[in-house]
Amino acid sequence: MEHTNNVKLDLAGVGVGPFNLSIAALLSDKTEINARFFEGRDSFAWHPGLLLDNTNMQTMFLKDLVSAVNPESRYSFLSYLVKNKKFYRFLSAELQCISRHEFSDYLAWTAHQLDNVQFSTRVEHVDFNGQHFNLHTNQGVYQANNLCIGTGKVPSIPECAKAHVGERVLHAAEIGLRERDFTGKRVMIIGGGQSGADIFLNALQSKWGQPKSLDWLSRRSNYQPLDEASFTNEFFAPDYVDAFVELAPEIKSQEVATQKLTSDGITQKALLTIYQELYHRFDVLKQDKWVRLLPHRTLTHLAQDANGFKLTASNALSQCLEAHHADIVILATGFEAPTPSCLSSIIPLLDMDAHNRYQMTPDFELKWEGQNTNKIFAVNAGMHSHGIAEPQLSLMAWRSARIINSLAGEQLFETNSGRGMIDWLSPATVSTAAVI
Ligand SMILES: Cc1cc2nc3c(=O)[nH]c(=O)nc-3n(C[C@H](O)[C@H](O)[C@H](O)COP(=O)(O)OP(=O)(O)OC[C@H]3O[C@@H](n4cnc5c(N)ncnc54)[C@H](O)[C@@H]3O)c2cc1C
Repeated sequence: MEHTNNVKLDLAGVGVGPFNLSIAALLSDKTEINARFFEGRDSFAWHPGLLLDNTNMQTMFLKDLVSAVNPESRYSFLSYLVKNKKFYRFLSAELQCISRHEFSDYLAWTAHQLDNVQFSTRVEHVDFNGQHFNLHTNQGVYQANNLCIGTGKVPSIPECAKAHVGERVLHAAEIGLRERDFTGKRVMIIGGGQSGADIFLNALQSKWGQPKSLDWLSRRSNYQPLDEASFTNEFFAPDYVDAFVELAPEIKSQEVATQKLTSDGITQKALLTIYQELYHRFDVLKQDKWVRLLPHRTLTHLAQDANGFKLTASNALSQCLEAHHADIVILATGFEAPTPSCLSSIIPLLDMDAHNRYQMTPDFELKWEGQNTNKIFAVNAGMHSHGIAEPQLSLMAWRSARIINSLAGEQLFETNSGRGMIDWLSPATVSTAAVI
């Protein structure tokens, strides 16, 4: 018999990564909303398997959990620096971007101060009884009038690699979770994004022992930089999201497709560090070349052979198939967002679009049949509806404020950040159809 906790929450958060943590931090002094955020882990962790040496944030530290809408909050990054007595040394260090270790430490510092975050509580199943949601957890059942889904993403594994996943074929997200020894092994990294770059650099610096060889294979035409230009950053501003939500679905898809490198490229700092490390080893120290860079290739087949693995890749330049060999294959192939399994009872009640994705209001609320009385919000789940900033940290505080205001039915936080630099949409005088 499941134990039912004797409290009905206004808001239950499922999962505590940075995004729900931001909402929890902003709600911490809003006593009018009784919220609790449930996290399966025993303590806060931010992609712990990818917290490697020499890994830095892609976003500025002021894009923290709260500052964009509540700079007075005690959970700002600046507050973290002062309370941890490192403010002056932080300034003297002149960091252009901070390490992921430091941002992770800031997130954990916040999470473990908040009364509304409950660890060691995995939400197994959620159902709706017509009046409220029941969250079935390993700590009993919790009742809530509204939900916020913040369960994040899961590793994306290429189809051809699925049957081989284990000790020697692993996703990037696993790499830092335990000791590895690649000494004398042929190591192949698949994927030319930031995680691939971070792992390549660490392997190059022999973090896991000196490999026999190190190959870095990527479908992209080269090792491409993150587009961090000033005007590109306007995509990560509230008024672009406000314009984006108004667009037709096919225009939204086109926009997102053209913006890949605004979020998925490799930082200039990481690219330069890798290039300089390669130059030093092979052009200055004159080591025998044990590294190969293999862009423009798509992994098509992976098979175990007598000595290790045979990888087949199609080369987009030569249009030929190539064979490569490795003992260790690291899949830096990104993440995907399946519908969380704990929502299986709720899914049939949701309005989905033609691609089976959530339909969302501008306030990050899912459209569903009980929407008039009970709200379901979701974070990191609406790139198709809200644009390229949705999986990023840049607008998390602003999004949290929108969600809280919608839940409260009043402006608890100011979300108008002023007019942006670019006029994304101007009042239409004549429709395109009429012109044609
Ligand atoms: C290595 C890496 C580095 C990144 N760096 C940046 C960056 O520099 N800048 C940037 O803008 N973006 C960055 N991102 C993108 C994005 O900001 C992060 O992925 C971010 O962690 C997303 O936060 P989240 O809260 O959605 O999910 P997550 O961080 O994945 O957290 C989800 C949490 O939910 C918990 N959970 C899941 N299911 C349940 C359940 N049923 N019950 C209870 N708990 C559950 C999980 O245990 C987890 O703790 C990075 C992503 C990665 C992978």
